[in-house]
Amino acid sequence: MSVHTPRVAVIGSANADLVVEVARRPGGGETLLGGDLALLPGGKGANQAAAAARCGANVSMVACVGTDSNGGFLLSELTAAGVNVEHVARVERPTGTAIILLTPDGENSIVVSPGANQALDVAAVEAAVMAAAAPVAEGTAASETGEASPGRAGSVWRDAQVVVLSLEIPLETALHVASEAHAAGARVVLNAAPSVQLTGDVLQLCDPLIVNEHEALEVLGASADDPDATNYARLAERLLIAGARSVVVTLGADGAIVAERGASSAAEEPLASLTAVPAYTVRAVDTTGAGDAFVGAVAGELAAGQKLADAVRFATAVSAVSVQRVGAQSSYADRTEIEAFIV
Ligand code: ATP
Repeated sequence: MSVHTPRVAVIGSANADLVVEVARRPGGGETLLGGDLALLPGGKGANQAAAAARCGANVSMVACVGTDSNGGFLLSELTAAGVNVEHVARVERPTGTAIILLTPDGENSIVVSPGANQALDVAAVEAAVMAAAAPVAEGTAASETGEASPGRAGSVWRDAQVVVLSLEIPLETALHVASEAHAAGARVVLNAAPSVQLTGDVLQLCDPLIVNEHEALEVLGASADDPDATNYARLAERLLIAGARSVVVTLGADGAIVAERGASSAAEEPLASLTAVPAYTVRAVDTTGAGDAFVGAVAGELAAGQKLADAVRFATAVSAVSVQRVGAQSSYADRTEIEAFIV
């Protein structure tokens, strides 16, 4: 890759997706027969890394998978997508697993067992950074050496233009990395999914915060009966007021809203621009991982120097292609295909 290739670091989850097609969701106490089981690579972090790499970014991932066969499967799929997996650790826990029921409406119901993802604690992330910082003696792998070298210090995210975080890993780890990456000069993209309420000091690291409409409410600590619950532009503005540097609210088939603050905006009235980006009209067969494709594509485009609204327009195309195929990573197109889709 050339030295000009946009560099993205993804610190996040990797899951084996166990997908079964069913005619409908089972009720409580009910057993349904489904289609053949499919094992597909997934997990928010891994999906986002794969999407960014397929869009042309140079992507490094920091994650934990098990020593089981699913862990090996995820590593080989990430590698095939073009992701650097040098900092993905193998740990003695089951690889994270998502059990996905896919119904004919293209919607899905998911249960996630985090497993090895829970081992991605602050110490594990720091170990990955130290491994990246180690001097590489001729014929020696970086992870086999001990001391930091100024030349490669903290290269996992200090060399990255954009660091991507989502919340299927311990929250403490994500917050630690957000703060360290921001201090090191990287642009932090936080996908607050699964959602939690976030404080202003965390939000002010996010540029952008990417949330869907439900997550937007939860990050604000608001409930579904909030007067702004369906006023997504206002929710985006409230997230700016709460501290985020920029905000993207995704709305499924209704597209996305981009809210940005002005350089000299007042804290209580930060909104400088609001852009509604419509989704493409396509026939969705499986929306699994559409949001992750979107996040990975936004990160890759931002690392390449694109403006946020333009990055969101490109990401909208990436997701639109992905929902027309089954699976998450397996549904992501490469840049050539996306550009042909856009024309
Ligand atoms: P998920 O958790 O299912 O991956 P999400 O809730 O995080 O998704 P969405 O808002 O559903 O994210 O989707 C992200 C983007 O993907 C949308 O902003 C839109 O551009 C695109 N998208 C999603 N669903 C569709 C669809 N049915 N048709 C076209 N584009 C879609």
